Amino acid sequence: MISFLDLKKINLKYQEEIENKLLEVFRSGWYLLGNELKNFEADLSDYIGSKYALGVANGLDALRLIFRAYIELGIMKPGDEVIVPANTYIASILALSDNGLLPVLVEPEINTYNIDISKIEEKITSKTKAILIVHLQGRIIFSEKLKRIAEKHQLKIVEDNAQAIGAEWNNIKSGNLGDAAGFSFYPGKNLGALGDAGAVTTSNKELFETIRALGNYGSNQKYVNIYKGLNSRLDEIQAAVLDIKLKYIHEENDARREIAKRFIKEISNPKIILPENPSNEKEHVWHVFVIRTENRDDLQTYLAEKGIHTIIHYPIPPHHQEAYKEMNMLSFPISEKIHREVLSLPISSVLRDEEIDTIIKALNEY
Ligand SMILES: *Cc1c(COP(=O)(O)O)cnc(C)c1O
Repeated sequence: MISFLDLKKINLKYQEEIENKLLEVFRSGWYLLGNELKNFEADLSDYIGSKYALGVANGLDALRLIFRAYIELGIMKPGDEVIVPANTYIASILALSDNGLLPVLVEPEINTYNIDISKIEEKITSKTKAILIVHLQGRIIFSEKLKRIAEKHQLKIVEDNAQAIGAEWNNIKSGNLGDAAGFSFYPGKNLGALGDAGAVTTSNKELFETIRALGNYGSNQKYVNIYKGLNSRLDEIQAAVLDIKLKYIHEENDARREIAKRFIKEISNPKIILPENPSNEKEHVWHVFVIRTENRDDLQTYLAEKGIHTIIHYPIPPHHQEAYKEMNMLSFPISEKIHREVLSLPISSVLRDEEIDTIIKALNEY
């Protein structure tokens, strides 16, 4: 069986370094808010190019905390609207509704799967305060036009960078394109921890300090609470592992790009629609390689019979979820088509050449 993502194999590439570090942290007796976190935050902000990076418990918290901080700073208030792509992962939307902000869904582009920038402006009202862009599948969504729309309407640009660490637009890394960015280091992400982990990057000092306090019981000084905060920390063990894996994220992403190139060049079947390579390949880190086909479930079953494990990202669009009954009557035909037709192929730095051959052959014979 070709697994969708062999996490064990990926992490064992760094076995010696990680195991030595785990033992060191275990024996140190210091498990939270120590040097491992400090080092990782410094290395992450260096890598991204932002002034600040701060570790939090997971990717959803990273996004929740950014919007919560904007509310505490008086820049947004409950009832305000935030533009977000209709086909995103549910966490982007949860981060808004959790803060009493209203998600305003915008259709994606069928060929990039990312938010259609030309459809943003018609959704802006006097209540709109931000655009939450999501670099879905690992592909950057950004443009001068997007920047101009945000400037014209005085909107914050927040990046959901859970899927695109390492991607670059005009030599600027994702996570440093807008006002703030949330990262997830869920084990299956391109930079994955050994459990839950996340981070926020920003170059705004006030925002950074507010999020730091909010994630620490709303306290910026021990036993002094200025906000009704939460507890959202990145622990020393996860920070230490992430700091090791961050050194190799470049190689991991390059390996994914090579596989994506082969898939795009060698898969040829009129029934299958392949993703596009951006004109600058640095804009994509291929968190997932998503194909489209009319009889998606049939293709998935066929591939499973050939020993190839695939996943659907994602089967139900957010506006059709029971949790968002208030959006159930909305219609987003492009998003709905995407959710009906997409299938993600295995892709990672540990996929062997023979496995890539098998996947290509199976798809060409379908
Ligand atoms: C994974 C993911 C998240 C949430 O991250 P967690 O660490 O699982 O909380 C948010 N947004 C997107 C687009 C994701 O893919």
